Amino acid sequence: MSENILEIKNLSVEFCTFDGVVKAINGMSFDVPRGKTVGLVGETGAGKTTTALSVMGLVQSPPGVITEGEILFDGEDLLKAGEAKLRKYRGDKISMIFQNPMTSLNPVYTVGRQIANVIMQHQNVNKAEAEKRAGDMLEVVGIPRERTANYPHEFSGGMRQRVCIAMGLACNPSLLIADEPTTALDVTIQAQILNLMKGLKDQYDTSIIFITHALGVVAEIADYVVVAYAGSVIEKGDIKSIFTNPLHPYTRGLFGCLPDIESVESKRLQIIPGAMPDPMNLPPGCKFCKRCGEAMDICRVKEPEEIRVDREHMVKCHKYQGGGKDE
Ligand code: SF4
Repeated sequence: MSENILEIKNLSVEFCTFDGVVKAINGMSFDVPRGKTVGLVGETGAGKTTTALSVMGLVQSPPGVITEGEILFDGEDLLKAGEAKLRKYRGDKISMIFQNPMTSLNPVYTVGRQIANVIMQHQNVNKAEAEKRAGDMLEVVGIPRERTANYPHEFSGGMRQRVCIAMGLACNPSLLIADEPTTALDVTIQAQILNLMKGLKDQYDTSIIFITHALGVVAEIADYVVVAYAGSVIEKGDIKSIFTNPLHPYTRGLFGCLPDIESVESKRLQIIPGAMPDPMNLPPGCKFCKRCGEAMDICRVKEPEEIRVDREHMVKCHKYQGGGKDE
C-alpha cells in the first residue's frame, strides 16, 4: 500500500471559451500522504478549485477538458475510472466541503434527511438506521441530534458549515477536500471549525486537502503545504520547511503580506506587485517573471524545473537551478 492516498501527476486542465482556451491547470503535481492534511495555497486563479473538481470528477465538459495527467487515488487512476465508479466514490471514499454551506445544502429538506440520504446512497442501511447515524454525525460536530428536524435556514453560518462537515464525514471517507471552508465565517467561528476539523481528522484518520488563500489558516491545520501559482505548483514541502525556509520569491512574498504581531515597530505590509498572468496568454518562461524582483534573463524564456531541496521540500525557480547565475 502506497504511503500516499492521492497522487496528482502532471495534471493539465483547459476550458474552451468563445474568447480562446483558458489554461487553468498546467502540469500540477503533488501527493497527499495518508492521514495527513495538505494545505493548498494560492491566490484566486491559481487553479486550486479546478484541481479539487478534477479529483472529484466534476470538471464540467464542455467547456472543461483534462488534457494530460494522472490522479491516482489509492493507486487507481480516477481519470480512467468510469462515471459509475466515480459516483460511487464521491461522498463515500472522497468528500468535498465548499466555501458557502448554503449553496451545498438543499433549503427544502431537513438537515437530518440530507445527511441520511448520503448514508443511504453509499451504505446498505435502512432509513431508520440512516436517520440514527445522521443524528450521531450531528453530535460528532457539536450539534444536538434533535436538530436533525431543522432546515438549513434555521442554522447560523458556522453551524451550517458544521452540518456540511457532518455530511462530508458521514460515510467515513478516506479523503476530504475542504475548499475555503472557513473563508465566509467570522474569525471566532473560523477557529472553532478549524479545531473541529483537526479533531475529526485524528478521530477518523481522514486525509485532507485544505484549500485556502490564507497562510495563517494553513499554519493552524496543515502538515504539508503546496503553493500553487498560475495552475502549477511552485513550491511544496512539510509545514516546518515552508514556514521556516520559504524559497520561492512568490512564497516569500506571501509571507511578506502577513502582519507581524510580535514586532514592536509599525511596518508597512509588503505587497506582491502586479497580477497573475492571463491564463489565455501565459508567458513562455517562469509564470511569476513579471512580478519577480529577482528575475534573470533565463526566467523570461525557460520554464524552471522542480528542484528538490531536501526529502520534503521542492521549489521551481531558476535561482536554485543554475546557482543563481544569469544566462
Ligand atoms: Fe523569479 Fe526567475 Fe525564480 Fe521565476 S524563476 S521566481 S522569475 S527568479
